[in-house]
Amino acid sequence: MAGAILRRFYKSINLTRTGFDIAIVGGGIIGLTLARALRKEHADVAVIDAGAQIPPATNAAAGMLAPSFEGAIACEDALYAFGARSLGMWQEFAADLQDESGFSIDYRADGILGVAFEEAQARRLAMEAEALNARGGAVELLSGNEARRLEPALSEKVAVTLHAKHDAQVDPRKTILALRAALAGNVEQLSAHRVECAVRNNSVYSITLDNGDYVEAVRLVIASGAAAGALIKGLPPPPVYPVKGEAAAFAMPEGDFRRVVRAPGAYLCPKMGGRLVLGATERDGCSDYEVDDAAIAAMVANGAAAVPAIAGYREIERWAGLRPATPDGAPILGHDCRGPDGVFLALGHYRNGILLAPASAAALAGEILGHGPAAEIAAFRPERFAQA
Ligand SMILES: Cc1cc2nc3c(=O)[nH]c(=O)nc-3n(C[C@H](O)[C@H](O)[C@H](O)COP(=O)(O)OP(=O)(O)OC[C@H]3O[C@@H](n4cnc5c(N)ncnc54)[C@H](O)[C@@H]3O)c2cc1C
Repeated sequence: MAGAILRRFYKSINLTRTGFDIAIVGGGIIGLTLARALRKEHADVAVIDAGAQIPPATNAAAGMLAPSFEGAIACEDALYAFGARSLGMWQEFAADLQDESGFSIDYRADGILGVAFEEAQARRLAMEAEALNARGGAVELLSGNEARRLEPALSEKVAVTLHAKHDAQVDPRKTILALRAALAGNVEQLSAHRVECAVRNNSVYSITLDNGDYVEAVRLVIASGAAAGALIKGLPPPPVYPVKGEAAAFAMPEGDFRRVVRAPGAYLCPKMGGRLVLGATERDGCSDYEVDDAAIAAMVANGAAAVPAIAGYREIERWAGLRPATPDGAPILGHDCRGPDGVFLALGHYRNGILLAPASAAALAGEILGHGPAAEIAAFRPERFAQA
């Protein structure tokens, strides 16, 4: 049906290649992973991305694939289950993406260690372990000595750790590059083009870009991260707001330590090539990209309490990014019930967009291609906010 409409449309105004079946606004990890999933089903897809005008949160992320942390026990069961499902998809997704692109994305399933120094923190870890295992997780509590046998760089002051042995990590910047390379030649990628608005006429969306050009598509996906403004004429913006995060990278002697370490007030993610990512602050509603020196210094001190060696590492980069948050902390996925047909939302992945990308893409691609709504995203549908 959609294809027939589009063919008629092309014929009527004699388009060259500005018309597509599906246009995705946003080329962060969510938009690109979705484009890849749609393309695998032979869909005709374009991704329109604003480039440096609106820096993607994806490039700011540490890349933890960590359903066992990131507020998992404070979230609804559905979000934990969705995170665990996506974690289970990551290994194959990473291997396929590396094959398709020829790029390494530094996927590592070494587990993550959450550390406690004193009794109250240890009690909290024990409660989290119990809650996670009750939900089907596979986490264990280790003594300081047991943890140091896994990661000798841990401080003698670490008393207890929560070991999430199946949690993993990846390099988000390399993942973006790999996705772009894998899509090249199969998916039209319009980078450095900000979408100003989209209007529906005769079942086709006319999408105006900031340089005055326009693109047409039968279906439209909004995957624009924290910048999810009012892009569709007549519709208010979706309930997504920025939560700023500051982070930094350090040069580390390769092999100093390997696993992600999460301490109170900082996490440490050792990447390939001797790069350590330290993060991250959380500032609600801030939409600037300034980095506060004091915040980085505090995170270095908190991280060094867990892994003392990092105090001597040389800083190589610092940055800020805007997490796309929603009022209930869960993503917004599915057909946008508020407006005309053919609009889908892939928004609000907040602290877990890297983790959730494969599961979000698989579920949403099926819905966009007409296979019906996927059960695993029933809790994340846009209408929960429309009803509120
Ligand atoms: C410091 C920090 C650490 C994080 N660590 C982790 C982590 O360890 N693990 C994890 O899972 N998640 C993490 N996250 C969260 C994760 O980065 C996000 O959830 C995820 O990147 C969101 O991806 P996205 O594609 O929705 O948005 P983005 O990556 O922000 O991409 C959106 C894209 O849309 C484009 N865009 C916006 N508006 C328009 C427009 N009008 N026209 C055209 N293009 C537009 C932008 O240019 C951008 O490229 C972290 C985030 C931060 C800030």
